[in-house]
Formats: sequence, structure tokens, C-alpha cells
Amino acid sequence: MLLVEDSRAIASVLAAGINAFDGITCVVAGTFAEARGLLQTNAQAFFVAVLDLNLPDAPDGEIIDLVQEAGIPIIVLTGNVDASQRDAMFARGVADYVVKDSLVGIDYVARLVNRLAHNGAARVLVVDDSRAFRTYLCSLLQQHGYATLSARDGIEGLEVLRANPEIRLVITDYNMPRMDGLKMVSEMRKAHSQDELSIIGISNSADPETLARFLKGGASDYLHKPFSIEEFYCRVDQNVDMLRIIRRARDAANRDFLTGLYNRRRFFEKAEQLHRRATKGELQIVVAMIDADHFKNINDTFGHQVGDDALVEIAATLRDQVGSSGLVARFGGEEFVCLHVLDGTVDPLECLDQIRLGIAAIELYSDGRRVAVTASIGATQALHGNLDQMLAAADRAVYAAKKAGRNRVEIG
Ligand code: GH3
Ligand code: MG
Ligand code: MG
Repeated sequence: MLLVEDSRAIASVLAAGINAFDGITCVVAGTFAEARGLLQTNAQAFFVAVLDLNLPDAPDGEIIDLVQEAGIPIIVLTGNVDASQRDAMFARGVADYVVKDSLVGIDYVARLVNRLAHNGAARVLVVDDSRAFRTYLCSLLQQHGYATLSARDGIEGLEVLRANPEIRLVITDYNMPRMDGLKMVSEMRKAHSQDELSIIGISNSADPETLARFLKGGASDYLHKPFSIEEFYCRVDQNVDMLRIIRRARDAANRDFLTGLYNRRRFFEKAEQLHRRATKGELQIVVAMIDADHFKNINDTFGHQVGDDALVEIAATLRDQVGSSGLVARFGGEEFVCLHVLDGTVDPLECLDQIRLGIAAIELYSDGRRVAVTASIGATQALHGNLDQMLAAADRAVYAAKKAGRNRVEIG
């Protein structure tokens, strides 16, 4: 981020607060001229700028225009502000402002910057029949770094959500032609639960029941028109933060800490559904167990850390090869499992051999020496009575691959 602030004391406290967050580096400019120099050479390096409006060489907030030209979201540091000054700042497209003469303010900036750093990944859909209002909300969201999509009514809203499943938040009006917000929310809830998609309903009706209906219909939150820009940001940020917290907690429960792959429990949850569908004849699956060869030797020769690095590399190889329709998990230790959904275009044996070759091609070095990594793969296409039995068959095939010399694929 870019911090333009002539007071060294404030700049250093703030920079320390921001640098404490992973992956964000604070670059400080003490004057307008210095900031201009940084933007001329490297504007695209900054995702947000925190600006003091009174600089020795630009006393009247000229810095805002300079940074805005570079298309960077702005947070203003100021002394006390009254309501009209605040509205004027928001009208100029400032994302937020912070009163700087307090530690609370400094801490708020640090958290806001950290949030902006993550918002780009969160897509927001705005549904409203008024073009002006849609544009207004989208521009507010963009100032906080969100990527936005919009729709004119409930039907279009459902279409946009279907085409963009990565949307995290929907903000919707109530009264709209063709399909109103309430009906749209209940349709959306059929496919997206509260813990993966937040919905904020907006209503300008004087009828308090509208809001209750929105919430009962599945909205996570609501805003009553007219609302202040600050209230809008607070609601949006809170809802997006909550989803992020839920996702982190879920990942911690479902994923292996070292490799980030699904753990055994999560694999079973997902794989059992696919096995059931395969049993009904809806799709074809192949289950493969992948066991690293002589892994104990790698640990003994290069140390446990290099062993861990090798496991991370194997996981990445599997993730690349299996793609999004299949499943990959770490089953325990140096054992992994893949479930491929066959689409008729790939030959399972060839696919598994690609995995084997991919693992053997891992380039891992320790003290200048190449660490040879290979794995034995056992697979089966026979569904057996249940998933457990299918995995047992794959496991027997791994054993056969080991016996036959390792770095091989055996189909059981
Ligand atoms: P084989 O080719 O027969 O599979 O031999 P192997 O050495 O891979 O098999 P074995 O089951 O004898 O040993 C597995 C080794 O994997 C032992 C264990 O220390 C190592 N291992 C298991 N989990 C981890 C881990 O998380 N990190 C590291 N570095 N090593 C691990
Ligand atoms: Mg309307
Ligand atoms: Mg092994």
C-alpha cells in the first residue's frame, strides 16, 4: 500500500501496524512530490493508498486527485471532520476516512487495509431495477476493492448467480419487475446456504414487515433506505468477514494442514456421494491410492523438513492432474488418494501414468543434491459393494505395484 503522510511519527506507527499483516508492505511518501514520483514509476504496485490531506507541498487535498487518476482506492487520514466534509469526501470517491489523532483510528486503518487486500477475491452481485442505484452501489463496492456484477431483476439475478458461482454476497432491492427480491432470495437459498452466500436485502418501504419477510425468506441482513455510506460499508464488510471466518474454520476441519488437500474424513464425505451416483450408473469413477516410494529413506537422508517439502510437491502434482471434477486427499502419512470422474475422453490408465510421471519429475533439491521422488499407484474401476471395499482393492493394487518394483501403476 501507499502511505502519504508528512508526520514521521504517525507514518511509522501506521506502517508498523500494516506490516504486521502477512503479504502487505507499506511504502511511505512524505510529500506530494514524492508520492507523484512513486505513482509515475510504479502505480500498479499499490492496491490502496492512505492519504494525509495536508502535505507541505499540497495543503488542500490535491493528493486525492493524483491518486484517483491512478485508479487506486483511497483512505483519507484527517483531523476531526464534520458531516458536510465527510459527505464531500465520499462524493469524491474516497473509500473511507479515519480521524488520525487516535490509536483507535490507526488500528482501524490497519484492519481496513488488510480487508481491502482480501476483498478483490470476493465478488458481489447487486440486483436493482434502478440503473442509477445499481451503478451507485457498484461504485461504492468498487471503492472498497470488491469486484461487482449487476442485474436488473430477480430473474436476471438468478441467471448471473448461476453463471458466477464464486459470488459471495448479493445485495438486492425488494420491488422489481418480473421477479421481486423476496422470491429471488428464496430461489437462491435452494442452492446456496447462509454459510456460503450472504444476501443483504434493501427496502425503502415504510412497511416494517418487508424487512422481516426478507430475513425469513433467507436474507442474511438488511438495509433500510435511506442509509449512510458508512452503514452500507459496515454491513457489507461484516457479512463478507463472517463468510471468510466460516470458510477458514471449515478448511481447518476439512483439510490437511501440511498440503492443504482434503483430509480423510472430508474425502469420504465427498467420495461416498460420487460412489453412490456411480452405483446408480450416473457416472464412472476410478479410485487410486498413491503411496510414495521409500519415503523413510528421504527423511533419513535429507531430514524431515525435506520430506515435508516432498509431500507438498506430490500434493501439488496430484491437484494439477486431477482437476476440478475429481477429488484428491491426503489419506495419512505419505499416502494419498485420488478419485477421477471419467468423462469418456480419457483413458484411466494413461491418466494415472501421467500422475506417476508427474511425481517422478518433481524437482526437489537439498544442499545441491536432487531428491528423487517416486510413487507407486494402485487403482480400481470396479465399484465393489461400497467405497471402503473399493479403496481396499486399490490398496491391494498398490501393494502389487510395490512388489513389482515401485514407481509403477497397477490396476486391481
Ligand atoms: P514403501 O516404498 O514401501 O512405501 O516405503 P516407505 O518408506 O515409503 O514406507 P513406510 O511405510 O515404511 O514409511 C513411511 C514413512 O513416511 C515413514 C514416515 O516417517 C514418513 N512420513 C509419514 N508422514 C510424514 C510426514 O508428514 N512428513 C514426513 N517428513 N515424513 C512422513
Ligand atoms: Mg425497485
Ligand atoms: Mg511409502
